[in-house]
Amino acid sequence: AKGLGRNTLCYFDPDMQASVSANAAVGAALRVGLREKQFVVHYQPQVDRQGAITGVEALVRWQHPEKGLVKPADFIPVAEDTGLILPLGMWVLETACEQLAAWASREQTAHLSIAVNVSVYQFRHPNFVDMVMAAIQRTGIRPHRLKLELTESLLADRMEITIQKMGMLKELGVTLSLDDFGVGYSSLSCLKRLPLDQLKIDKGFVADVLTDPNDAAISRAIIALAQSLSLQVVAEGVETQEARDFLAYLGCDQFQGHLFAPALPIETLDAFLRNPSPD
Ligand code: C2E
Ligand code: CA
Ligand code: CA
Ligand code: CA
Repeated sequence: AKGLGRNTLCYFDPDMQASVSANAAVGAALRVGLREKQFVVHYQPQVDRQGAITGVEALVRWQHPEKGLVKPADFIPVAEDTGLILPLGMWVLETACEQLAAWASREQTAHLSIAVNVSVYQFRHPNFVDMVMAAIQRTGIRPHRLKLELTESLLADRMEITIQKMGMLKELGVTLSLDDFGVGYSSLSCLKRLPLDQLKIDKGFVADVLTDPNDAAISRAIIALAQSLSLQVVAEGVETQEARDFLAYLGCDQFQGHLFAPALPIETLDAFLRNPSPD
């Protein structure tokens, strides 16, 4: 068996074969799911340094008839590979705008923002800016309440087009956030050229920020960088009071994580907004 060598694995990898057909099955099921309206948006609160809720992040879930509630990690990559991220992503965006419109009519919720994750595939679509504009106009929301979370992978290439498109989104009045910051490889010089409002520290750095000196150093550097560029900085995945306090000490503006609340169905969130800490 040794004689076959390593390369044999490249010619036939049964695991890879299995995952290709599994992805095809998921893709077909996703198509059905979109048609049958099996997706739901959950909302995770974001709080400021005083602990007040400033907004939420929209996180999609798939309410599968047999599998139950499926997490995005199990279908977003397939949605991206199949192009279905375009209709799915637009549906999430439209749903978020409708929710913002509903909140705008009540004094206690009128100030809240909703952050929506935008995959590179959506952002690159030639009509993306028009589709965002149409959703804002149709729902009549104040555009700055809509926050688009873009990922660092956008910065890997085609910088000029990316900067131009982000500029068009800023002209619409939406808020722009750079998600999962620190995971990728965006250079500081390109960061300076982007019309951003916010950086988000990935939960991969936040999880061990108290025990791993590397994670603490990275978090500290990201916050200092954000401050020097006049960007807001949000930490995600905050699970303990100690981590929240340390990040606040470093200068973090906003926090999101299980310490405050997980992603919640809209009914639960509405109850939570009325009474954030029931006792
Ligand atoms: P993300 O944008 O980094 O979102 C944060 C993830 O961390 C969410 O996972 C959230 O539920 C989870 N999280 C929040 N607080 C904590 C915490 O204290 N501890 C831990 N361990 N986790 C926490 P979720 O909802 O499973 O989403 C995973 C990813 O799927 C998201 O990561 C995002 O990249 C993607 N995603 C979710 N919804 C959408 C969407 O509508 N469109 C696109 N393109 N991607 C989406
Ligand atoms: Ca996000
Ligand atoms: Ca993240
Ligand atoms: Ca670590």
